[in-house]
Amino acid sequence: MSGSCVSFQEAEPRAKKPDWLRVKLPIGESYKNVRNLVDTHKLHTICESGNCPNMGECWGAGTATFMILGNICTRSCGFCAVATGRPEAVDWDEPQRVAEAIYLMKVKHAVITSVDRDELKDGGSIIWYNTIKAVKALTPGTTLETLVPDFKGEKENIQRIIEAAPEVVSHNIETVERMTRQVRIQAKYWRSMEVLKYLKESGMRTKSGIMLGLGETQEEVLQTMRDLRASGVDVITIGQYLQPTRKHLPVQRFVHPQEFDEYTLAGYEMGFDYVESGPLVRSSYHSERHVYPGIGKLQWEQKKAMMA
Ligand code: SF4
Repeated sequence: MSGSCVSFQEAEPRAKKPDWLRVKLPIGESYKNVRNLVDTHKLHTICESGNCPNMGECWGAGTATFMILGNICTRSCGFCAVATGRPEAVDWDEPQRVAEAIYLMKVKHAVITSVDRDELKDGGSIIWYNTIKAVKALTPGTTLETLVPDFKGEKENIQRIIEAAPEVVSHNIETVERMTRQVRIQAKYWRSMEVLKYLKESGMRTKSGIMLGLGETQEEVLQTMRDLRASGVDVITIGQYLQPTRKHLPVQRFVHPQEFDEYTLAGYEMGFDYVESGPLVRSSYHSERHVYPGIGKLQWEQKKAMMA
């Protein structure tokens, strides 16, 4: 999901996690209901594939991020817990199954993402189109965030997403320019920026995300934020990278919550419409709040007023 998933669990952490990264275990009836739906519809979720620390909170609230086009990716990003290899054949029934699960879950907002399918001529964009359309047909009131690959920058494929008209289109830049080759080897920093710019110029509400703690400097983070703004990105998520296994890139630094707040302030000053910045923030976290313009800035003003 080129630039989409983030990986979130340190199986064997090298450095002790600070207190602010402790999360609650998944429990409760809503969690069990989502678990059953995902299992019975043979669906994949990035929540599980990415070992997301917010799974308990999100599934407990009845939301999940569905991962389409299988669970094997043609890319091999150094931070990502999704398996790399030769994907299985495209499952043309998948769009309908995703739509039915969303219908049964009665969710008002859903996030859909995918692995990268670079071996397919259409990059998986037809399944993407069919899935968005199937969800819209079955649950017209459900808003959608689609967290899409870069489709190798091919406009014909990106255009299918635009034509399907989800409420938010997201594509994660993941890291700063200098570290892109190390962090997501098959991707290109400026190609992702171009994809985001094209989506924005086509009238989409756009979103992107970056992980911290991989070795980037604060100035590089700010420059990446400026580049995203220059590409017209409306919503940005900034979170702490956590190493999924010892084979993945190590955590270089646990960023303090105060620094995340500084990025929030900087982001609003740069003109982002919504800045979601914090240690446990993941691309899909609070995604339902990212649909409507103006909410983020209002929340930030209220938080600042309470702290004053
Ligand atoms: S390896 Fe695949 S699924 Fe994981 S972040 Fe990279 S493109 Fe996305």
